[in-house]
Amino acid sequence: MAETKSTCPYCGVGCGVIIQHDGARVIEVRGDPEHPANFGRLCTKGSTLHFTARPESRLLYPELRTSKGEARARVSWDVALDTAADKFASVIREHGPDAVGFYLSGQLLTEDYYVFNKLAKGLVATNNVDTNSRLCMSSAVAAYKQTLGADAPPCSYEDFDHSDCMLIAGANPAFAHPIAFRRIEAAKAARPDMKIIVVDPRRTDTAASADLHLAILPGTDIWLFNAMLHVLLWEGYVNMPWVREHTEGFEALRQVVRDVTPAVAAGICGVPADDIIKAAKWWGEAQAPLSLWCMGLNQSHHGTHNGTALIALSLALGKIGAPGCGPFSLTGQPNAMGGREVGGLSNLLSAHRDLANPAHRAEVAALWGIESVPEKPGYSAIELFEAVREGKVKALWIACTNPAHSMPQQALIREALEKCEFVVLQEAYANTETAPYADLQLPALTWAEKEGTVTNSERRITHVNAAIPGPGETRADWAIARDFALKLGEKLGQPDAARLFAYPTAESVFLEHAESTRGRDLDITGLSYTLLDERGPQQWPFAAGASEGATRLYADGKFETASGKAQFIVPATSLTSEAIDARYPLRMTTGRLRDQWHGMSRTGKAARLYSHVDEPRIDLNSSDLDRRSIADGDLVRVKSRRGSIVLRAHATEEVRPGHAFIAMHWGRNVLSSSGVNELTLNKVDPHSKQPELKHAAIQIEKIELP
Ligand code: SF4
Repeated sequence: MAETKSTCPYCGVGCGVIIQHDGARVIEVRGDPEHPANFGRLCTKGSTLHFTARPESRLLYPELRTSKGEARARVSWDVALDTAADKFASVIREHGPDAVGFYLSGQLLTEDYYVFNKLAKGLVATNNVDTNSRLCMSSAVAAYKQTLGADAPPCSYEDFDHSDCMLIAGANPAFAHPIAFRRIEAAKAARPDMKIIVVDPRRTDTAASADLHLAILPGTDIWLFNAMLHVLLWEGYVNMPWVREHTEGFEALRQVVRDVTPAVAAGICGVPADDIIKAAKWWGEAQAPLSLWCMGLNQSHHGTHNGTALIALSLALGKIGAPGCGPFSLTGQPNAMGGREVGGLSNLLSAHRDLANPAHRAEVAALWGIESVPEKPGYSAIELFEAVREGKVKALWIACTNPAHSMPQQALIREALEKCEFVVLQEAYANTETAPYADLQLPALTWAEKEGTVTNSERRITHVNAAIPGPGETRADWAIARDFALKLGEKLGQPDAARLFAYPTAESVFLEHAESTRGRDLDITGLSYTLLDERGPQQWPFAAGASEGATRLYADGKFETASGKAQFIVPATSLTSEAIDARYPLRMTTGRLRDQWHGMSRTGKAARLYSHVDEPRIDLNSSDLDRRSIADGDLVRVKSRRGSIVLRAHATEEVRPGHAFIAMHWGRNVLSSSGVNELTLNKVDPHSKQPELKHAAIQIEKIELP
C-alpha cells in the first residue's frame, strides 16, 4: 500500500493526514505525526475521510443543457468550455465585463484561487470575484486590517501551550476545531491555574469546560468587551506606556468605555456584572492572555467591530507578539487563508493588496504584464447574488460551493439562480442543492486527487499531494480555470491570454503567487513545493533567504498601519440586526455539529458520522417546549420573516429559555426542501460585507400529525 501526505479538507486547523491507497482507491487515513497542526491526531471527521472518498455521487463528466428546464446531457470538455467561453464572451461584449461574476470557495486550493482571481481581474477585467469565505472570515480580515494594518493572524497553535488566560469568544472549537481544542485541553491539564473564559449564548461543549462561561445574549459581544476594557482601566491593568508608544486612538475608545460599566453591560448582555469583572481581572492579571474567535463574532452585521473590540483587549495590555499572547482568529474552512493571500475577494488583490489602492493595482498589473486592473469594486457575495437577481450579472461561475444551501435568505438566492442567464457549476459532487440551477456542470477533482497548497489558521502552508487519480473526466480546479481562460481569451480576441495563463503545473501557479508576495507582509518567496516537502509545512512570512517562518508577528511593537502603530477603533454599539417580538419571540442561533461539515456533501457519506446527531433538529430549552405543549421529538414548523422549515424538537438545557439553535449542515431533506438558511437574513457588516448568519428571530409551532 502506498502513502501520500495531504491535509484534512475540513476545518481551518489544517491537520496533516497520511493517505494510504493502492494507487486507485483511498483505503485508510491516519494523522501525520510530523504535521505541526496535529502531530498525528485526527478528530472524528478527519479519521473517517476514507469513507467519503468514493466515486458514487461524484460528478464524472461535463454536462450541458441548451435551454432552461431541459435535462443536462453529457458533453466533451471541449464542447463544455467552448460553450461557456461563447456565453461569457457574448455577455461581456454586449453588457460589459461587470455583467459576469465568479463565486469561489474556501475549499479551493491556493493555486485554484490564484488562477480564478487572475481570470476575473486580469483577463475579464471585472472585480466580480468573491467567495464563500465572505460568509466565514471577512470580518476577521477587516478587523485585523483596521487594528493591526494587515490581514495577518499574529499567533500560532503553539501559543495555546503558553497562555495562562484564554478568552474564547463566538467559537466552539470542541466541535468546530476539535484538534485545536484538544491542545487547549492538554494545556489546561498541564497547567490547572490557566483560566479559560468562554463567551457564547449557548452552553456548548467548549463552554462547559470553561472556568467561566459568559452566556451573553446574541449580538452583545461589543458591550461585553467594552465593559471588560472599562474594568481594565478602572483597575489599572492597562499598559499605558506601551499603549502610548505603539498605538493610536486609545483616548477616543476610553471616552466610550468610560460609561460602559459592568452593570450597564450586564443589563444589555444578560450576564452578571460580577462575572464581567471576574473575566476582566483574570485577563488583566494574566502574563499571557490569548483571545480566540470564530464565526460567533464574524457572522454579525457588526462582525468587524466585534473583532476590533476583542483585539483592543490585547492591545490595551500590550500583550501581542509574545508567547501565549494576542488575538487569534480561527478560520472555518481549510483554505480560507489561502484565498485571502491571493486576493480572492472582490475588494482585494494578490498578496494582501487592496483594490482601492492605486499603487497596489499598478503593482499587480505590472506583475501580470497587463495594462491595468479595473478600479471599480466588485460585488461581495451577497451583492453578487443580488446583482444576479436584478439582472445586472447575467453569467455566473460557481466553483466548489453550494450557495443554494449556504447563503442566507435562500428564497432570494433561488430567485437569483433561476433568473441567471447562464450558470456554470464547477463541482466534485453531482447532486448539491445548487445543481438544478446549473446550465453547465464541470466535474472537479477533490481531496486526495489534487495537488496544491493550503494555509491554515496559524498561517501555515502545507503542500498537499494527489494520492489517486480522480474518477471519470474530473480535472483540477486551477486547470479548469486556466483552460476556460484560454478559450475566453480566443473568443474575446485577447492574444495575451496564452501568456497570462501559461501554467503547465500547479507548482508553476504557486511560484507566480509566491513572486507576487515579494516584499509584502506575507512574503513567501523562500518557499517552494520542494522545500515544503523536505522541511514540512511552514508559516509565513518566509522570504527568500529565510531559514524559517514566523511563529508570531509584531513582537517588536511595529504594525503594518501607515503610522506603524496599532489602532484602537471606536466600535458600533448596535445589537442583532433583527429583534425578537411577540410574533417571533425566539432568538435563533446557528452553528456546527461535532461530526458534520458544511452542507454534508462529504461527511454525509460516512455512516459513522450520524451517530452523534442523526437528523435535522432544533435545540430548545425544555421550558420553552413545555410552555407550548411540545414534547421532545415532536415535529415543529420553524418560521422566520423569510420562510419556514420543519425540524424535530430537541429539549436541551444547553440553550437558554427564549433561545434556539439549529445546525447549519442539513439542507434539502425528508422534512424540508431547505435548511436553516431559509430562515436567516442577508444583513451585512458595512466594513466586511459579511452577513449575519448567526442570528434570526423565529417562532415555532407543533405540527399535528393526522
Ligand atoms: Fe480535520 Fe479539523 Fe478535525 Fe483536524 S480538527 S481532523 S482539520 S476536521
